[in-house]
Amino acid sequence: MGSGTAPHGKRNRTPTHIKCRRCGRKAFNVRKGYCAACGFGRSRRLRKYSWSHKWKKAKNVL
Ligand SMILES: [Zn+2]
Repeated sequence: MGSGTAPHGKRNRTPTHIKCRRCGRKAFNVRKGYCAACGFGRSRRLRKYSWSHKWKKAKNVL
């Protein structure tokens, strides 16, 4: 319970998602070895779907 300073002390574990080498988003799953946002490591093509409009909006996101 609570999300102030106290739970931040537990932030020294291995992260589930790290910064993606292709899209730059913090969505690269370390254990699965692919990016949840762009599909890097899973497919050569960029992961994008018509029902998702995040890739339409994201133009200059680092
Ligand atoms: Zn990515």
